[in-house]
Amino acid sequence: MILLDGKRTSEAIQQEIAAEVAEIKAHGGKIPHLAAVLVGNDGGSVTYVTNKVLACEKVGFGSTLIRYEDDVTEEELLVKIQELNANDEIDGFIVQLPLPRHINTQKVLEAVDPRKDVDGFHPANVGRMVAGLTSFLPATPFGILQLLERYNIETSGKHCVVIGRSNIVGSPMSILMAKAAYPGNSTVTLCHRNTVDLAYHTRQADIIISAVGIPGLLTADMVKEGAVVIDVGTTRVPDDSRKSGYRLRGDVDFENVAPKCSYITPVPGGVGPLTIAMLLKNTLRAAKREIYA
Ligand code: NAD
Repeated sequence: MILLDGKRTSEAIQQEIAAEVAEIKAHGGKIPHLAAVLVGNDGGSVTYVTNKVLACEKVGFGSTLIRYEDDVTEEELLVKIQELNANDEIDGFIVQLPLPRHINTQKVLEAVDPRKDVDGFHPANVGRMVAGLTSFLPATPFGILQLLERYNIETSGKHCVVIGRSNIVGSPMSILMAKAAYPGNSTVTLCHRNTVDLAYHTRQADIIISAVGIPGLLTADMVKEGAVVIDVGTTRVPDDSRKSGYRLRGDVDFENVAPKCSYITPVPGGVGPLTIAMLLKNTLRAAKREIYA
């Protein structure tokens, strides 16, 4: 069994990005710049955004954090997005989700210029991805592709079972694994909350990618010997022995599943750390005009 080390892979990717930034700087080019819009004070969101901004500094990007209170109006937010769209200094930006209920999230996401949509959530980027065109890929599926690639995991002709159909992980993952490319070329089954007999599907899988958020959902009896298991799930469970009072648990019953696997991601330290690295990668691609030439 080989542990897929997301932390190390993420660091390697960030080092590569930092080297490219240094090169751009040396040639007097424009330093990539990421902006993040954060609404409210939700603990999780504040931490995620802070980590994204810190990661920008680490690789040499410029970064801007724009904060609003919970009571910001949809109109104010849309005006700011238009400003960011028009600002040549900003190569890419993200609007941290979730947004307060009085704001129409889809409307906000669709206001982002697709050329600056480094989260890859705009329908134009989703459509381009489905059509097999260059696009900004959502960071978590993009990170999983990187893990598969950097560990040289064979995906062609393999049966890949994706569990969870969210717009940010499961659905794009299923599309990318079926694409005529490496990593990809898999035969894909997409399972979700309405799937009858999840175990029937997972037992046939060569590759399982689980993005559900139910700790311990995937048990050893549901996994074929030699399978590759990618655990996207991150659920906070109470843990009094930690200062924070909680720890992260994945969808996979790691202790019992790991011995059966050829490769498996731990939680934490698997898929999670790659997400920020891929956001930076998307920002670099935006700055280099790689997607929309
Ligand atoms: P979500 O929370 O929007 O939806 C969960 C999905 O699981 C749904 O599509 C649902 O149909 C499916 N589902 C629910 N119960 C099921 C069951 N019993 N059997 C099969 N499928 C079932 O999904 P999300 O936003 O992709 O998040 C999923 C998990 O991944 C969460 O734990 C989240 O915290 C985590 N996540 C981690 C990262 C990261 O590590 N960087 C990024 C995004 C999401």
